[in-house]
Amino acid sequence: MWQTVGQDRAVAALQRALAGVRRAHAYLLAGPPQVGKATLARELAQAVNCEGDDPPCHECTPCRRIAAGIHADVQTVTVDASGDGAIHKDISIDQIREVGRSVSLRPFEGRCRVIIIDPADAMNEAAQNAFLKTLEEPPPDVVFLLITARPQLLRATIRSRCQRLDLRPMPVAAATQALVERWGLPERRAEVLARLSRGRLGWALAVQADEEMMRARREALMDIRSLPQRSLAERFARAGDLAGRFGRQRESVLEVLDLWSQWWRDILLAAAGCQEAITNVDLADILRAEAARYEPRQVASFLRSLAAARRRLEENVNPRLALEVLLLELPVPS
Ligand SMILES: [Zn+2]
Repeated sequence: MWQTVGQDRAVAALQRALAGVRRAHAYLLAGPPQVGKATLARELAQAVNCEGDDPPCHECTPCRRIAAGIHADVQTVTVDASGDGAIHKDISIDQIREVGRSVSLRPFEGRCRVIIIDPADAMNEAAQNAFLKTLEEPPPDVVFLLITARPQLLRATIRSRCQRLDLRPMPVAAATQALVERWGLPERRAEVLARLSRGRLGWALAVQADEEMMRARREALMDIRSLPQRSLAERFARAGDLAGRFGRQRESVLEVLDLWSQWWRDILLAAAGCQEAITNVDLADILRAEAARYEPRQVASFLRSLAAARRRLEENVNPRLALEVLLLELPVPS
């Protein structure tokens, strides 16, 4: 009865664990953004509290209450954006201490307390240390679910105490089929979304539900298209903007770089006549025209620069400099 689509390996591992006596105290759900980690976490919370015959049944009271986000024993810890008006970018030690207190109590209404930490890599160092203490002496009737796109940012001692489940993007054809059969999308639309999402069903469904996302994405790509024509001053200003944003919203800047990589890879594919492999299928005509304006060697070299800049950003080595260098290395159009 698991409804998580396209993550058969992770689901099978969980089914085996739940059927046996050796359920882990903590699971690390790792994988790229919007690939299904939060959906799988919710289903696991349902499975351990389900009162139906075939957990998760999605029909019993606990399953329904968890789906609605109102079950008293299922708690999600995330970056606290509200409250005192300050901008938080971490999950704090106070939040983790609060978790420590709540898990020392028996479950209120279900069989098992489930603590979802999303994204787990947002725990700062102090929070990770505090969390490690809780993990070292796991209370009974508690399962911790750590969600992250960047497991390497978690302390090795935390990772080693979790059972790891890797979620991967689905093949485009399988994602297309799922969008048609389960969500009733028209074939062509399903294929475009499956390709644009690169097999991340959560992304495809979010865009399907919100046309604005599609519009914003197209605007961002047209901006990328115009960057090589911009003056040096404009490029430096852009690097400055991105570096400033990186301090506050890391993830959103890494997403921008992903979009750049997609765009330039598509140009290379269009130049080589590999129409079938391009990601931005809805912009195929523009990509073909753009491909004629660039030297493939330069595009390939810029893609390597992008990968290098991404590494530097992830290592937090002078983000501003990394972005400035990158914007100087853009291919030159004819
Ligand atoms: Zn149920």
